[in-house]
Amino acid sequence: SDVINIPFLILLPPLFSTCFHLSLAGEGKGRSWRWRDMLRFPHISQCMTLANTIERRFSSLCVEQPIGRELFRLFCQSTCELQSCISLLDKMAEYEVKSDEERTGFGIQIINRFLNRQVHLNSFHSGIAFITLLVQSVLQSVLCAYRYVYEYLSGEPFFQYQQSMFFDRFLQWKMLEGQPVTKHTFRWYRLLGKGGFGEVWACQVRASGKMYACKKLEKTHVKKRRGEAMALNEKLILEKLNSRFVVSLAYAYETKHSLCLVLSIMNGGDLRFHIYNIGTPGLEWDRVQFYAAEVCCGLHHLHQQNIVYRDLKPENILLDHNGHIRISDLGLAVMLSEGSLVRGRAGTLGYMAPEVISHSYYGKSPDWWGLGCLVYEMTAGKPPFKGHGERMNGCFPTFSIPPSFTLCSLPLYYPAQRLGCQQSGVEGVMSHSFFGTINFRRLEAGVIEAPFKPDPRAVYCQDVQDIDEFSTVKGVMLEKTDNEFYMKFNTGRVAIPWQTEMIEMGCFKELNVFGPQGSRPADLDW
Ligand code: ADP
Ligand code: MG
Ligand code: MG
Repeated sequence: SDVINIPFLILLPPLFSTCFHLSLAGEGKGRSWRWRDMLRFPHISQCMTLANTIERRFSSLCVEQPIGRELFRLFCQSTCELQSCISLLDKMAEYEVKSDEERTGFGIQIINRFLNRQVHLNSFHSGIAFITLLVQSVLQSVLCAYRYVYEYLSGEPFFQYQQSMFFDRFLQWKMLEGQPVTKHTFRWYRLLGKGGFGEVWACQVRASGKMYACKKLEKTHVKKRRGEAMALNEKLILEKLNSRFVVSLAYAYETKHSLCLVLSIMNGGDLRFHIYNIGTPGLEWDRVQFYAAEVCCGLHHLHQQNIVYRDLKPENILLDHNGHIRISDLGLAVMLSEGSLVRGRAGTLGYMAPEVISHSYYGKSPDWWGLGCLVYEMTAGKPPFKGHGERMNGCFPTFSIPPSFTLCSLPLYYPAQRLGCQQSGVEGVMSHSFFGTINFRRLEAGVIEAPFKPDPRAVYCQDVQDIDEFSTVKGVMLEKTDNEFYMKFNTGRVAIPWQTEMIEMGCFKELNVFGPQGSRPADLDW
């Protein structure tokens, strides 16, 4: 009766997994001595407008938003009957990141402890078919439990939560989230790079100590080159995303001269640097496979939101200090409306798919072509299609596939035959023998270590002196009408990344104090 379809890639929804591996990073380091003033809760009476307008959706308030999830958990822990729900959730989060060998046994423990059903390993005969059956039935039971707990919590407990002091506290955090953002919100460090509209600088949030990269778009440059739509597009796409394999946008604000995107800082350099500037061109097999797998997860996330990235190339894949990668520079990404296709020669010469070059309509297929090109370049130490007739216009180009391209056999020439573009979609790519030794479930959960960890003392980019200074454009006047666009851009903190910052930098724990026995203490602005 409880049979549910098991998708290829089984990922428990975030109620269980997201915050589980959020370690506390350098608590207290780098915070301003005034940090408590910066994060002072407003009196609850000042939160009434917010209370009346906030969208009361369980998934958003108690699952997706990290501080909301923490407070809802605290509420459950304060209520006897709900405590076992929390223990179950914790166990499931553990189950989610167990290795394949341990997973089924652990799942059985969960079932026996929490569910009204007994499973015994011995009741199954050995043999592949039976083991598969066992694995699937355990998985199904756990997923059923998930659906059950989720539905239960979103009913009466969610209603009770909204009457509790924990929800009042959530509103106070949301008010802090809505404070204006200016350049004084951050401390400024070194120049990281240069983009088409401005420079990218390292910065640190004064209130929490968290480091970010701030991509500045000079207003005059944007206006002169009519980049408004493109800049806004990048911002709107970034703020919708929440993946450990795509840079995340934590703040968007404006200053007198620029529009600023505050992004995850990626200190380990880009893949182009790693392919060409360290030793012989190219990377070792384990790194090629690992980066390709993480890019694949990033693309999967984008495609789930109906976004085509269109600019896959080594310089857009950045490494963090732990050696994990994120897709960056979403300026060319485009949102597809449901089921529709787009047209347009967007991308970089040498990396564009044939259907893009020939001006045909396409969906997500160019990204799988891009993944193939990336795998080729990481392996061979040179790009696959340098100077192969990209200038052809209006017809399907006929450049030849280099023989060694089949090495990875990931991309195929025509989109209809290409891996990733068929019925099996992303699952077809992930289950390809190329990724045989990758456990995508654990990779997505962030528990796999990278094969290469950047040296924290090294700077993996060209010398800052080599980066030309960014000049301001003269003779471009900013007018009233420009303000409309700036206002759409200047939305401040982005909920999920900012709340994650508060938790991981320890601010949440230190500030989120309640009085004895959960009373509302008078001295804490209640
Ligand atoms: P553009 O869209 O104008 O090309 P990019 O987003 O590519 O701008 O950024 C320009 C450069 O800034 C990159 O090539 C890289 O060197 C650096 N950079 C961009 N984003 C980050 C980041 N999140 N962390 C570190 N450096 C970055
Ligand atoms: Mg760029
Ligand atoms: Mg760009």
